[in-house]
Amino acid sequence: VLPVLAVVGRPNVGKSTLVNRVLGRREAVVQDTPGVTRDRVRYRAEWAGRPFILVDTGGWEHDARGIGARVAEQAEIAVELADAVVFVVDATVGPTDTDERVVQVLRRSGKPVLLVANKVDSPRDEADAATLWSLGLGEPYPVSALHGRGSGDMLDAALALL
Ligand code: GDP
Ligand code: MG
Repeated sequence: VLPVLAVVGRPNVGKSTLVNRVLGRREAVVQDTPGVTRDRVRYRAEWAGRPFILVDTGGWEHDARGIGARVAEQAEIAVELADAVVFVVDATVGPTDTDERVVQVLRRSGKPVLLVANKVDSPRDEADAATLWSLGLGEPYPVSALHGRGSGDMLDAALALL
């Protein structure tokens, strides 16, 4: 049975882009408008010779309770099924209320979490990533899922949690 790593976070932060980066192929659907990825999609992945299951999440629409509740609910389901979690936040936006809700879910789960500060496309964006320390999940790993920047170090750290 392979260990499971779930990628969670609110829509549009770059979860599917990161999944594609890890897979080395464009399989997860990346969209400028949220709501395209099915709730959870499992992929077989490998890093440093270690196979694992990578789960992309997303695809929910706003409902009466709002996007925050839906994101938190989906994070809860994904986390339950995972051995460790990659929590993706958009460093160019900084922490949002929805991100805070996901943090509460992650804390309750007790599962190991790696905080990823995505969209750090260049060294001058690193300061954006530092604002994510306030989420209380430890050191944010700055990456650019789009360009691959930092993704190797991030994967080393994520696999160390499995
Ligand atoms: P998801 O909803 O969290 O799965 O986000 P997607 O992977 O679909 O990406 C949402 C948008 O953010 C797309 O337009 C991506 O091209 C863009 N994006 C993802 N990662 C990065 C990144 O590292 N840098 C920049 N500048 N844009 C990114
Ligand atoms: Mg997606």
